[in-house]
Amino acid sequence: MTTTEVALVTGANKGIGKEIARGLGQLGITVLASARDETRGAAAVAELAGEGLDARFVRLDVTDERSVAEAAELISADFGRLDILVNNAGITNDLVTPPSETSLGDLRRVYETNVFGVVAVTNAMLPLLRNAPSARIVNVSSGLGSLARHTAPGCTLGLYFAYSTSKTALNAVTVQYARELRDAGIAVNACAPGLCATDLNGHMGDRTPAQGAKIAIELATAEPDGPTAGFFDENGPVSW
Ligand code: NDP
Repeated sequence: MTTTEVALVTGANKGIGKEIARGLGQLGITVLASARDETRGAAAVAELAGEGLDARFVRLDVTDERSVAEAAELISADFGRLDILVNNAGITNDLVTPPSETSLGDLRRVYETNVFGVVAVTNAMLPLLRNAPSARIVNVSSGLGSLARHTAPGCTLGLYFAYSTSKTALNAVTVQYARELRDAGIAVNACAPGLCATDLNGHMGDRTPAQGAKIAIELATAEPDGPTAGFFDENGPVSW
């Protein structure tokens, strides 16, 4: 008997997260499409369920410890395990600001979601992930988090200080979890979706959210002998 896998996607009400949820659902996986806002989350789940996917709503604000704990309790009661966790929820401050002009408040706000939120959700879900035969964690990072790209000669990347460094920190977080969880058979990887047109960037990306979702879906559904402690985009490994 094969058991249907269960996946939790954070920030699944729109953008790349909704496409990750859709893609996983299309593979026959039960998708817990989570969102911080009940109305927006329920609308996305209704859309996915209307397509015949097994999508269910879980309220989850990654910056709210209580909401994270409640989500873990609900998943524990309903399924007792989690096969896939996709830490997708992310924000940026709207400004292209160099380090010297970025307020600490902005920096804290972005890190709260993009870094500490991932740690909070991962730790809360770990007991459930340990109950799965070979769980996968995917952290949705960004090419802007790559130190190699920022230090390359002639780098023309914008100075999105808060956002870029939050994703670099997320990459480091990914590697540390991968080390800790290797022996437990839990794969932990980061991915870069590429510049996709979403609300995050005022729709300036030339890729679709579905294209951006592809690498996350691939890593989320990798076989037990698949990669861990890696950083990938659709073309393969990305330099740290
Ligand atoms: P969107 O702004 O379209 O979606 C972001 C999602 O995160 C929304 O569902 C949003 O919910 C949710 N979110 C924000 N804060 C929280 C929170 N505290 N708790 C739970 N959910 C939250 O952006 P994208 O789809 O573009 O971004 C998804 C991920 O992809 C992010 O991690 C981003 O950094 C990354 N990424 C995006 C790229 C791009 O070009 N678009 C490129 C590289 C990486 P709400 O609707 O309530 O705000």
